[in-house]
Amino acid sequence: MTMREEVSTPRRTKEIIQRHGFSFKKSLGQNFLIDQNILGKIVGAAGLDKSKGALEIGPGIGALTEKLAQEAGRVAAVEIDQRLLPILEEVLEPYPQVHVIHGDVLKLDLHALFADEFEGCSGVSVVANLPYYVTTPILMKLLEAGLPLENIVVMIQKEVAERMAASPGGKEYGSLSIAVQYYSEPELVCTVPHSVFIPQPNVESAVIRLKVRSAPPVSVADEAFFFEVVQAAFAQRRKTIANNLKSRFFPGEGRERLEALLAESRIEPSRRAETLSLEEFAGLANTLYAAGLGE
Ligand code: SAM
Repeated sequence: MTMREEVSTPRRTKEIIQRHGFSFKKSLGQNFLIDQNILGKIVGAAGLDKSKGALEIGPGIGALTEKLAQEAGRVAAVEIDQRLLPILEEVLEPYPQVHVIHGDVLKLDLHALFADEFEGCSGVSVVANLPYYVTTPILMKLLEAGLPLENIVVMIQKEVAERMAASPGGKEYGSLSIAVQYYSEPELVCTVPHSVFIPQPNVESAVIRLKVRSAPPVSVADEAFFFEVVQAAFAQRRKTIANNLKSRFFPGEGRERLEALLAESRIEPSRRAETLSLEEFAGLANTLYAAGLGE
């Protein structure tokens, strides 16, 4: 077998970029990976094998895509920037199991994409170095769609990764932690130095794995209302749960009904939202819903 230099080496990345006259677009979050060790860690965390599929969002010039092609049986990669398509065609030419799709992942029908790309795969994971400007919308779209996903392994801004994985009680814990943990079990894989990217981002980065749950860990009467209660509870972090809920659900009313419902949910009115567990939020939302506040 002839040895071919991987696309992700700094030398080959620079050569490809120069030869194609490619210029990075900050507005598309274009920070490409040039470190074999980090690429190996990302792909390793996804637990792929040849029976499985991988969906990559934003392949760039194909550094991670090439590694995925070596591990998974089928790879679909969605890239928004048309200028990268000829580069991807060249770089991924040896890998017929890779299909590059030109489009905005936020506008794609992911169920149709899964049906077209991953039929017969024993499992599918999302693996990506995400564009940081749309991290949360992309991850929430993937989680809320109810896709048959095993893992989501992504490079994201470190501060966002810490918020997703946070436990109750700390300042990082908030509505994002609850939304992500409702759908998945997050785990920080590693933090990442700036030097693994070209160009280097001006924020810190981390790799996170979201093990997608087959069912939520709590039972809620109405999902949309549950998330509405969570948002309301965190509306002003310095306020108590009672004050935040009052502004949203009981404006212009006395506190009696609210306090009775909090007592029924076994939640002290003086607590702050950041101390409530997922189970406590579910219990609270169900009590408020049963009292007719979701209508
Ligand atoms: N995977 C490559 C790597 O690790 O070197 C590139 C990662 S770079 C951080 C993000 C990539 O996502 C860029 O190629 C960018 O053009 C692409 N991108 C940005 N917004 C996108 C969107 N809405 N849908 C699909 N791709 C997008």
